[in-house]
Amino acid sequence: MHNEVRVRFAPSPTGYLHVGGLRTALYDYLFAKQQKGKFILRIEDTDQSRYVEGAVENLINSLKTMGIDFDEGPGIDTEYGPYFQSQRLNIYKKYAEELIQKGFAYYCFATKEELDEMREKQMAQKQHPKYDGRYRNYPMEKALERIANGEEHVIRLKMPQEGVFTFKDIIRGQVDIDSSLVDDQVIMKSDGFPTYHLAVVVDDHLMKISHVIRGEEWISSTPKHIFMYQCFGWETPQWVHLPLILNPDRSKLSKRQGDVAVEDYLAKGYLPEALINFITLLGWHPVADEEIFTIDKTIKEFSFERVNKAGAVFDREKLDWMNGWYIRNSPLSEIAEACRKYFTSNDIDISDNEKYLRVIEVAREYISRLDQIIEHSEMYYKLPDLSEENRAILQSENAQKLLNFLIEQISKLDLSDDLVQFVKGCIKESGLKGKDFYHPVRLALYGNTSGPDIPKLINIFGKEGTVNRLQNWLES
Ligand code: GLU
Repeated sequence: MHNEVRVRFAPSPTGYLHVGGLRTALYDYLFAKQQKGKFILRIEDTDQSRYVEGAVENLINSLKTMGIDFDEGPGIDTEYGPYFQSQRLNIYKKYAEELIQKGFAYYCFATKEELDEMREKQMAQKQHPKYDGRYRNYPMEKALERIANGEEHVIRLKMPQEGVFTFKDIIRGQVDIDSSLVDDQVIMKSDGFPTYHLAVVVDDHLMKISHVIRGEEWISSTPKHIFMYQCFGWETPQWVHLPLILNPDRSKLSKRQGDVAVEDYLAKGYLPEALINFITLLGWHPVADEEIFTIDKTIKEFSFERVNKAGAVFDREKLDWMNGWYIRNSPLSEIAEACRKYFTSNDIDISDNEKYLRVIEVAREYISRLDQIIEHSEMYYKLPDLSEENRAILQSENAQKLLNFLIEQISKLDLSDDLVQFVKGCIKESGLKGKDFYHPVRLALYGNTSGPDIPKLINIFGKEGTVNRLQNWLES
């Protein structure tokens, strides 16, 4: 058994952090923190055809924004580095050769055309498409001769062909996979780069990874990995395969049904804390039926035993609800800061910071995403446009009387007075009932008959601001 918990997040740099990747990174991080272990970021960039400019920086920035810090990885080098697989090619080469020498791997010269033809035939015969092992027993001298002649080749793993592979997964318990379903996996490509399968095993071993935590889609590859550990005589890590993340219709989470990149959620005004809370619950369930979890609390309670093996539905409505909760319950100054950019890009002057804070305090009650803030606060900065119908309401004799009356009352008001009592007093004195008072006043101050309570509106505008707004609707 490994005596220290060391876990890794091993993304291929595709250009953005997928929400599924964020969940893996988060569970790695939670487990490492809880077990006082290490969380490692390793970049799996051996597929040169998928190189994306700036992808690694982007990924690291997204993790940083989400508060998931790694202990080792790019920029935090240790004896276990380098943490880019593209900088470890000699290591993989050495281990691939060791497998050849031990007879656990072999050279294969099958061309793409040959492989396509093989697959087509198998499909036509309704067989599971699989490499047929045609070079498994090819004589070594002949192979070396062809290589010396510069012939293209790959290295394949000589997988056992009989029986059932069995391993223990911490979430799923015992997993059995029939060997007839497992291919002689390519471990070295013709361009001299390793495939994921060889690189992941070699690195997880050399980096002393204790628990391999990754998506369910890798379960079927696990027998190949375990076989390589056995060939090398290495101790296997523990296996943890996380459930799929699904759309509400239970199909695999896809771009077609909404965003999948963490940065898109951040751009739309989801708070990192809310996203983290939401993602924490994509698979894991706390003992008590609670929904709101800070990361510190999750670190204490987290366990893989409480992660479901069934797919976890990415319910965007629930995310909106949760984000709204965080917007309302986070410190006002933080939310105000996070909203600032929306005001700037809409050319709204928020230099009066006290007013700005009062606006955010009221407006945040109405939103579930920060990008909705302008819709609920621009009326405090610009006079609202009223429809003909609403203008007519304010032009009525009664409304005009009410506006004049209120202007008079507010001029006498001391802002440190209890505004709720003040408004109650005004209603009483005006002799009006409920909406006959509220509707015109709210229209004049806010531009809509429904919205925040009148005392809150008076508080936002202040004495002078309130009077100005009311006067604006007086017919001269
Ligand atoms: N590079 C793999 C991926 O991006 C990592 C899988 C693993 O964690 O083993 O899915």
